[in-house]
Amino acid sequence: MPLPTTSRYDLDRGAFAALLVTEPSYRLDQLWQGLYRDLAEPSDITTLPKSVRSRIDEIPTSLSPVAESVSDGGDTVKWLWDLADGARIETVLMHYTDRSTVCISTQAGCAMACGFCATGQAGFERNLSTGEIVEQVVRAARRARPRRVSNVVFMGMGEPLANFDRTWEATERLHHDVGMSARHLTISTVGVVPGIRRLADAALPVNLAVSLHAANDALRDELVPINRRYPLAMLVDACLDYFAAKGRRISFEWAMIDGVNDRPSDAAELAAVARRCRAHVNLIPLNPTPGYPTVGSPRAHVREFCDRLGELGANATIRGTRGTDIDAACGQLRAGHEISVDAPTRRRPSPDR
Ligand code: SAH
Repeated sequence: MPLPTTSRYDLDRGAFAALLVTEPSYRLDQLWQGLYRDLAEPSDITTLPKSVRSRIDEIPTSLSPVAESVSDGGDTVKWLWDLADGARIETVLMHYTDRSTVCISTQAGCAMACGFCATGQAGFERNLSTGEIVEQVVRAARRARPRRVSNVVFMGMGEPLANFDRTWEATERLHHDVGMSARHLTISTVGVVPGIRRLADAALPVNLAVSLHAANDALRDELVPINRRYPLAMLVDACLDYFAAKGRRISFEWAMIDGVNDRPSDAAELAAVARRCRAHVNLIPLNPTPGYPTVGSPRAHVREFCDRLGELGANATIRGTRGTDIDAACGQLRAGHEISVDAPTRRRPSPDR
C-alpha cells in the first residue's frame, strides 16, 4: 500500500495553497502558523474564517489513539496509535526538570533484527510517512502543555536512516515550521552508513546518536546484524566525517548486557573508539524484552563500567531509565505485538542484503 500523502500533516504548503486558491494569500500563512507554530486544531485557528477552518478540519489526521499509559508520576506518557491501514506505532513523552522530550517512531516495526530490542523481535511492517512522523510530535506537544516540548529524539520504533527521505522531511518540518532548534533534534541509527553520510551532507546540524553496543566486529555482528554489512571500520569513518562536517559531538549508545558487552575488554575497546570519535557514551542498563533471555548488567557494575570508561579518557554517562513499568523504555516498544519467547526471534540478514 502506498504511504498516506493526503493526511493533514503530510500536505505541504503547496498543497494547502492549492486548497486555498480562492482565499487571499495571507490565509496560507495563518493556516501554516496555526498548524505548526501554534500546534492548533483547525477549529481553534481563529484567525481563519469558519468556512476555511471547517474545510481544513475535514482533512483527516493519521494517528488514532488506542491507549495512553502514564508512569513516573506523570512525567512519562506513552501512546499506542493506530494508523489508517491498521499498522501500530508508539510515541513516548518524557518531562525532565529542564526540558521535555518526545521520542518518536519512524517505521512500524523494524527490519534491523537486533535480538535484544523488542521492536526488532517483532519484525518490519512499513515505513511511516512524513505526516505520521510529524503528527507524533504535534500530539505529544499538545499533551505536554503548559510545558513546551523542547527536544525530539528519533529513538522510537524503527530505523530512521532506513526511511531517510521521510525522516529528513519530518526533521525539516520540525525545524523550519514548528521552530525547533537543530541542536535539540537527535537522530539515532543502528549504523546505516550511507544514511549517516547523507545526513552529513544535509543542511541542518542535528545530533547523531549511534547504537554501538559492541566495539569489535565479532560481537557487533551478533548483537547488531547490520554490522555485517557496515562493519565498525566503515561506521567509525562515517562518524568521523559527520563530526568533521557538523562539529557536533556524536553519542554512542551502549545497552549493557550482563556478561556480554560489560567486560573490561569491552570497556577498553569502547573507550578507544569513543576517544577517537570524540563521542559521548550513553550507557543504558539493558531493559527487559520478551524475546531476549539475557539480563541487564547489575547497577553497581554499570557504575563501575562508567567509571572505567572515564579513567580510560572517554566521556560517559548512564542514561536514566524511564517508563520500564509501561514498556516505554529504550528497546521496549513493540506496539502491542505479542512476541513468542519460544519461537526463534533473531532473523539474520545475509551480509550482502
Ligand atoms: N533503530 C535506531 C533507533 C532506535 S533507538 C537505533 O537503533 O538507534 C532505541 C535505542 O534503544 C537504541 O540505541 C537501541 O539499541 C536501544 N535498545 C534496544 N533494545 C534495548 C534494550 N532492551 N534495552 C536498552 N536499550 C535498548
